[in-house]
Amino acid sequence: MSEGLRKHRGTKDTPGVADSPRVRVLLPLPLAGAYDYRTPAVLSINSGDFVTVPLNHRDIIGVVWDSSPEQETTPIAEHRLRPVTAALPVPRMTPSLRRFIDWVAAYTLSPPGAVLRMAMSVPAALEPPTPQAGWMLAGPGSNRQPRITPERARVLAVLRPGEAMAGARIAEAAQVSPGVLRGMAEAGLLRPALLPLASRFARPDPDHPGSALGPEQAVAAATLSRRVAAREFSVTLLTGVTGSGKTEVYLDAVAECLRPRDGKPGRQALVLLPEIALSAQWLDRFRARFGVAPALWHSEVGGKTRRETWRAVAEGQAPVVVGARSALFLPFPDLGLVVVDEEHEAAFKQEEGVVYHARDMAVVRARLAGAACVLVSATPSLESLTNARTGRYHALHLPRRHGGATLPEVGMIDLREHPPERGRFLSPPLIAAVGAALERGEQAMLFLNRRGYAPLTLCRHCGHRMRCPNCTAWLVEHRAQRRLQCHHCGHAESPPAECPECGSANSLTAIGPGVERVLEEVTDLWPESRRIVMASDTMPGPAAAAAAAQAIQDRAVDLIIGTQIVAKGWHFPHLTLVGVVDADLGLAGGDLRAAERTVQLLHQVAGRAGRAEAPGQVLLQSYSPEHPVMQALVSGDLDAFMAAEANIRRPGHWPPFGRLAALIVSSEDEREADRAARDLGLAAPGGEGVQVLGPAPAPLALLRGRHRRRLLLKTRRDIAVQPLLRAWLARVKVPNSVRVQVDVDPVAFL
Ligand code: ADP
Ligand code: ZN
Ligand code: ZN
Repeated sequence: MSEGLRKHRGTKDTPGVADSPRVRVLLPLPLAGAYDYRTPAVLSINSGDFVTVPLNHRDIIGVVWDSSPEQETTPIAEHRLRPVTAALPVPRMTPSLRRFIDWVAAYTLSPPGAVLRMAMSVPAALEPPTPQAGWMLAGPGSNRQPRITPERARVLAVLRPGEAMAGARIAEAAQVSPGVLRGMAEAGLLRPALLPLASRFARPDPDHPGSALGPEQAVAAATLSRRVAAREFSVTLLTGVTGSGKTEVYLDAVAECLRPRDGKPGRQALVLLPEIALSAQWLDRFRARFGVAPALWHSEVGGKTRRETWRAVAEGQAPVVVGARSALFLPFPDLGLVVVDEEHEAAFKQEEGVVYHARDMAVVRARLAGAACVLVSATPSLESLTNARTGRYHALHLPRRHGGATLPEVGMIDLREHPPERGRFLSPPLIAAVGAALERGEQAMLFLNRRGYAPLTLCRHCGHRMRCPNCTAWLVEHRAQRRLQCHHCGHAESPPAECPECGSANSLTAIGPGVERVLEEVTDLWPESRRIVMASDTMPGPAAAAAAAQAIQDRAVDLIIGTQIVAKGWHFPHLTLVGVVDADLGLAGGDLRAAERTVQLLHQVAGRAGRAEAPGQVLLQSYSPEHPVMQALVSGDLDAFMAAEANIRRPGHWPPFGRLAALIVSSEDEREADRAARDLGLAAPGGEGVQVLGPAPAPLALLRGRHRRRLLLKTRRDIAVQPLLRAWLARVKVPNSVRVQVDVDPVAFL
């Protein structure tokens, strides 16, 4: 970090560089560092200004930088410097965002320009917004005496002197047609005027009457609000059983953040959700709490809205942003609170491009902005729990479900004792429980974290397995679409009539279940029931997810069959039974966090049951009911499970008790990948508390046609991995056709 914050020689923080003819400009390109330019005398330029500069015969927008994590090279001679072309009329990038960009770049070993690009993802927002035209009172000056009809009088009553309003709004308020306005302009009563950049983002009202908090909620909310009101950095881990009202509690902290205090205006709040496309219910609750919708930020927000949102955030006009991980890079001028909901979710890890963990970077963003940070989960990560235990984070806990609802009872079904019928996947006890729930008029959910019909297609005759030509992966049958699909690269083909290996006809057979196959079984068992499949391919986009949630809430559905999507914070009051079709699934071929992740996922799924008056029941089908993961789910004692997990990881210095960084070496040429991986292995760092595992073929040894090898650097917690990685990579020359991706704090090990 100290490296990341080193200042460029001779420059101070803001404004600092105004009096220097030489400025450093960071460009949103994957380059090593900032470039030097000259400031023409006519321009006044400060650190953080968005400027256009010439680069290779074209103009490009960058940001005037003050520090660079890169080595300083010999500066270009003064007379060879090219001048900055223009400064853009956008609010300056704050020092805290600039430091954040440097910090993320240094931590993830990414070029700072690549990180800057995430903070400049909407170049069009940097252009001046096109003003809209409207009308204004013409005022005295004309000595004509235009006729004042009742319609015209209504228009005059709507407009205040000196204030411009859009024609459509005047017409609506005064109940007149647009023609009336044009007539009034001709008569000299109105004149055209440009509208001020109207904010699309209504201010949430912190004092909008919300739900009355329960006593434990109130205590937690008051504690959080105090930390927000302090207007300084803090981190709080807010935990509590599913349905305890953690959302209500942190929305109170959002309200506090928006309130002016001690003569200072309110600050902005950012809430990160792991899958914003699945957040319709969350948005309803926000609206109920604040009277208006928040600004949204995720990949599906496009075009004009994206531009306006970026700009509104930069101008302080968007008080609350709810977003995916990329929202961390929005240009908040005064961020007061960052909430990370479902902080344990792996979806917060970005695996492509700049590889970073949004939960961890949220803490850094809050620290640099002097903001409060709240990490929220019913099943917190071992990382955050450990930070809370050692006192680095504050801890707050809600021990009970809201409104007297009880936690569901979790039971096991031993599949060895109660096997499903041949070719079926639901055991007799689970079938009985689902049938009973349906009979009572309640909803039931079957959870299986696998899309499609079957994960494997096999030749009964010769044993041939249908594989992806580009990846180390089986093709998943999607029967409804008559496709075999690779879930890694998107390769798809029609199921062949004959085995491609031995030529036998009708010999290919589906092995194992996906949600489509469970649907088939359920349709057979309860043909009268109304069913819905919730999976990323059956519910593409926010609208479909919202419609599904609504249908379930409205009891237009009896049976829900879903993948991990159903684990995401839904509140389905009529759902009383959850059946987990294959509780062992996540444990197979597991990595470091397989057990932790399985407990989190299944506990979250279980937490969908019995959230209202009727009590909930959860049944886990498993071949190993004695496994500690199953035992933890049955007892509900996640604390004990996590403590045991910590005891497993501590001695070997596994995270969070040590540090990890992965190198993923890949090439289209297998021998090149092997050679580069071997060279890296030979040049690996060593010494006390430092260990390198590998090189070894990645579990996905072939992905999208690239051969992949992995090396894993493991260090003691007090040893930073970044300097070791930098030195290591500098020692080895790899050909251009080989890519070495650095993944600090890896979450996936594929
Ligand atoms: P969690 O996030 O802890 O799982 P939620 O915040 O989703 O819990 O709350 C569960 C349900 O209880 C939601 O439907 C929520 O609207 C309701 N709820 C929680 N607290 C209150 C409250 N104080 N007043 C009214 N409803 C509440
Ligand atoms: Zn065959
Ligand atoms: Zn593939």
